[in-house]
This record gives sequence, structure tokens and C-alpha cells, in this order.
Amino acid sequence: MNSLDLLLEIQENQKIAKENIKVLKDGSYINVLKKLKEEFEDEKINFRKKEKELTNLDNKISELNIELSSVKEEQNKEDYKLYNDNVSNYHVLEALQNSMEYRENIIKDLEDKKAVLLKSQEKLLKDKENSRIKLVKLKNSFYSCKEDTDKKINKAKEDMKKVEINIQNLEKLIPPKLLLDFNDIKQRMGTGAAKVQNNVCSGCKMYLSSVVLDEIKKSKKIVYCEHCGRILYYNDKL
Ligand SMILES: [Zn+2]
Repeated sequence: MNSLDLLLEIQENQKIAKENIKVLKDGSYINVLKKLKEEFEDEKINFRKKEKELTNLDNKISELNIELSSVKEEQNKEDYKLYNDNVSNYHVLEALQNSMEYRENIIKDLEDKKAVLLKSQEKLLKDKENSRIKLVKLKNSFYSCKEDTDKKINKAKEDMKKVEINIQNLEKLIPPKLLLDFNDIKQRMGTGAAKVQNNVCSGCKMYLSSVVLDEIKKSKKIVYCEHCGRILYYNDKL
């Protein structure tokens, strides 16, 4: 490899380094992770709320069941009285029948209340399950996003190391004066060397004069772009 090839090789490595620095500095993934975490925390609050509502509802249903069985027990006692005891007095019979009718109404009322509560319970159970599924999805998204980001960052770090070593090794092979020139131009222009393509400097996209093109064709000495000052890279096919 001649010095120009080496300079261009350094430039390619510097380009890769620049891209890796961009990846390492890019903080947008932090916002994505933060947003996912916030969504997860909000959903967790919703899930806990549903859980609490369900517990309250379960308690209410239990209380209702106790009340219902106690009323039914009373009803059974009255049934027994009606069919097994000797109820001779008409007034006693009437009172008993009234009392039974009253209890039947209470039971119906309680059963209606229970049906409403069971319906609410069913809805809450569905909501809770949906919330749980949402939590699992958010958690998975968070971890897969984190994993992807970690992979990307680790790869960028590894690539950076390789690129730095490459550049160091290449620099050792280039005459110090040329390297100094190259780095100086790079400092000012962003890149130090440019290919010549169809008589145009690929660094500044300007046509090169015939004088410069002649110099390139004739000699193998270092030629600079007359417009941007970059070191011009050329090959025999020019
Ligand atoms: Zn140029």
C-alpha cells in the first residue's frame, strides 16, 4: 500500500469511528425505555386498583351469601312449622304465611343484588386479566428494547476499539509530515483526503484544473486540491 492508500484507509476508519460515536452518544433509547417504564408503572396502579375492587366485591358477595343462607334457614324453619307442626289457629297460619311471603321477597331481593354483584365481578375479572396481559407486554417490550440497545452499544464500543487500533497501526506506516498535513486538513475540513472521480475532487465536488490533473497523471507525488486543499487520492486508472 502506498501512503495515499493508507491515508484513505485511515479516513475509512475515521468514518466508521464517527458513526460509532453517534450510536454511543444517541440517548433516544433512554426516552423510549423511560416511557415504557412509566406506562408499566401506570398500568401497575390500574392493576392494583382492579385487584382491590375485586377483593371488596368478593367480601360483599360473601356477606350477601351469609345473609342469604341465614334468611333461607329461617324460611326452612317456617316451612317445617307449616307442614309438621299442628297449626290449628287461622290467625297463626295467616301470620306464618305472611312471614314466609316477606322472607321470599327478601330472598328475591338478595338474589337480585347478588346477580348484579356477580356481573360486576365478571367484568372486573376480565379487566384485571387484560391489565395483566398489558403489563406482561410492556415488561417484554422494555427488556427487548434494553437488550437491543445494550447489543448496539456493546458492538459500537467493540468497533471503536478495533478502529482505534487500525488507525494507530496505519499511522505508523505513513511519513510523519504527510500525516501531520492530513490531520491538519481533517481538522479544518472534516476529512483530510479525497478521491478524484471524473476529474472532480470528491471532497468539495469541484472540477480540477488540467494543471492539477496533469500533475496527478505525471507524477506520484502528493497533490492537493486547488479548491479545498485536501490531499488528492488517485490511481492508475485515472
Ligand atoms: Zn477539493
